[in-house]
Amino acid sequence: MSLSVEKKQLHVPPLEEVATVLQSALKNSFAEASVSVVECPDLTKPPYGLEAVGLCGSPRLGDVGGVPNLMPVVQKDKLYDIRDLAKSVDLPDGFVIGAGAGPHPHVGVNSELMANLVAGDRASNGCHIAKVNDAGSYQLMKLPPTETRCALMLNMFASEGQSGKVLHIKAKKRTNDTNLVTCLRKGLEEFYGEKAVGLGGTFRLMQGRAKCHVMPDFPKAPLTCDADVNKWLKFYDMPAPMVFLSTLISKDVDLDLRIEHSHGYGKDCGGHYHYDTTPDAVEYEGYYNVAELMYRIDRPIVTHSFGRN
Ligand SMILES: [Zn+2]
Repeated sequence: MSLSVEKKQLHVPPLEEVATVLQSALKNSFAEASVSVVECPDLTKPPYGLEAVGLCGSPRLGDVGGVPNLMPVVQKDKLYDIRDLAKSVDLPDGFVIGAGAGPHPHVGVNSELMANLVAGDRASNGCHIAKVNDAGSYQLMKLPPTETRCALMLNMFASEGQSGKVLHIKAKKRTNDTNLVTCLRKGLEEFYGEKAVGLGGTFRLMQGRAKCHVMPDFPKAPLTCDADVNKWLKFYDMPAPMVFLSTLISKDVDLDLRIEHSHGYGKDCGGHYHYDTTPDAVEYEGYYNVAELMYRIDRPIVTHSFGRN
């Protein structure tokens, strides 16, 4: 399958400058916050347990498919092999993390995907999915090594997975209604304006709980507005500790992008991040890198703006 690929250069400010911008943004929304430039810790080790040691080497974002593949009418034939997507972003051996929809032919139903894999010769697959089970609760599953597909959409951060300098983010005790990721993104948007800055990485909910959704099986009737979507989705309050895989870009660059998207999982839970529900208790830590390029892959021809929260 040959996928359409559009590509744009992003603004790549020095990490130290981005750290300053993000720290001042976080301080507007959290009682305690700091952002510094550090050597990336080995992310294969606990508490992160990802498939590559770091977020460095040719960092880039990919926005694959999109919500229009899910609604108003589901296009079940929209299946992507993440190893092919790594090739599409010119990193055939790359480390890919991100948020998307799980492979329904394997899972049996629609699901949330926490993408975490190394493509190519060094291949290793740490992808998880979360689905709604028959009892109406959430259920976490690790995908088998050979199941490397996603469906419908994926927001991915790809790199060579090397160690190197990254942004280390810490935030504690939320003081307004802005969630962690939106706070980071808006801080970049306010400072950089028309210049688009993209980030990808991982954060942990260390204390507190988070409101996350899990998509149930495909809707029987078309979803045509945000109210329909919110009635269809299943929302849960999930406990720390959770590890999230996260992408954000300060603004769209005329590519019909989803500008922020984070999925995460804990011991028995997983889903799409909305916000923490425990502002006084919440504590986050994360590592991000600045993306050099934005790839738009298999962009839907007919689009709309609902279902993107
Ligand atoms: Zn999602």
